Amino acid sequence: MSSTRVLVLNSGSSSVKYQLIDMRGGERLAVGLVERIGERTSRLIHTHVAAGDTREQNGPIADHEAALKAVAAELGRDGLGLDSPELAAIGHRVVHGGEFFSEPTLIDQTVLTEIERLIPVAPLHNPANLTGIRTAQALRPDLPQVAVFDTAFHTTMPESAARYAIDPKIADRYRIRRYGFHGTSHAYVSRETARLLGRAPEDVNVIVLHLGNGASASAVRGGRCVDTSMGLTPLEGLVMGTRSGDMDPAVIFHLMRVGGMSADEIDTLLNKRSGLFGLCGDNDMREIRRRVDEGDEQAGLAFDIYIHRLKKYIGAYYAVLGRVDAVAFTAGVGENAAPVREAAVAGLEGLGLAVDGELNAVRGDEARLISPADARVAVAVVPTDEEMEIATQSYALVNEPGNQNLT
Ligand code: ADP
Repeated sequence: MSSTRVLVLNSGSSSVKYQLIDMRGGERLAVGLVERIGERTSRLIHTHVAAGDTREQNGPIADHEAALKAVAAELGRDGLGLDSPELAAIGHRVVHGGEFFSEPTLIDQTVLTEIERLIPVAPLHNPANLTGIRTAQALRPDLPQVAVFDTAFHTTMPESAARYAIDPKIADRYRIRRYGFHGTSHAYVSRETARLLGRAPEDVNVIVLHLGNGASASAVRGGRCVDTSMGLTPLEGLVMGTRSGDMDPAVIFHLMRVGGMSADEIDTLLNKRSGLFGLCGDNDMREIRRRVDEGDEQAGLAFDIYIHRLKKYIGAYYAVLGRVDAVAFTAGVGENAAPVREAAVAGLEGLGLAVDGELNAVRGDEARLISPADARVAVAVVPTDEEMEIATQSYALVNEPGNQNLT
């Protein structure tokens, strides 16, 4: 029996998201989520797609090992167990791959050690990713496990974009540089945008706007990332759900010296209590738009600050690329919030950018153009699919000529 299935695991600090995908036709066989791991109120929601059957388990799940065992049991009930010979690989999302991992990578001890070495620059994410990998390895030690890094797509950035203007000796000692995140999404969306335009990725320059709860922009020239808005950590760049994005770093010294706040308190303030939430108490764009439509001034200002920053990045990346063929909106806000797309390009006709009101109002799951037919630059909505991208990259890697004996 040929092995054509990939299990994609996205292990967060207290959650595991998973999808089992058959790579022959890209069919999703099972999808699910374990959340609140380590609490009394843990929950597993599992869907066996073909049967249209969704099951929910509530009650304590102590740790990632217990979570993955519960997922394996659910998959087993559907005849999709981890012991199946049809499983070709497990693909893991790994948030931080540093400057070394520019490709999906077969996981061995050296790779695990390097992911561990990166914990100081990704203290929230990499430990959870490692736990997910180790648990999956224990469940299926014989199966290839592949790491797909959020930072990988951005390793093509030139030094002029990746370096901060600080003493390189200090930067190198502490591995301080701009790594960028959401790379799997930026890679997928930039490629899908080229496909939508009916052109090869190598011929197309795209500005990708990944606007979810976390948000980042990237400038992609001919399929390669040349700049992105997140930096050493995901805090830099756009205004996000709960993160401030760009700020004068001196605000931090000011808060320490004058506000008496500790580094940890400021970290929490800027990552968890800032952005849209900090500005107006809501981080869900649906709620913010509802309030704006009712004339709520605080929500209105939060929306305006969000759009102002977005517009600045569109302009900056236009300049970085020189020629832009498309601007692509993706993720929760980018795919669903027509007012954000409209406001982000309003007034940019001089750059060849505009949206058609009717096309922008259409809702759907398919990649689509929303710019007027005669527009110089295409504006597109391109739904992201990070799980499919992780599965595709993992499957391609285990099927490379030298790796075929692995499956
Ligand atoms: P994450 O970064 O957590 O993966 P998503 O890409 O799923 O986030 O985006 C989640 C966000 O998308 C929500 O916080 C909300 O602001 C926004 N969103 C989701 N659906 C809609 C919608 N229909 N209209 C406007 N915004 C939406």
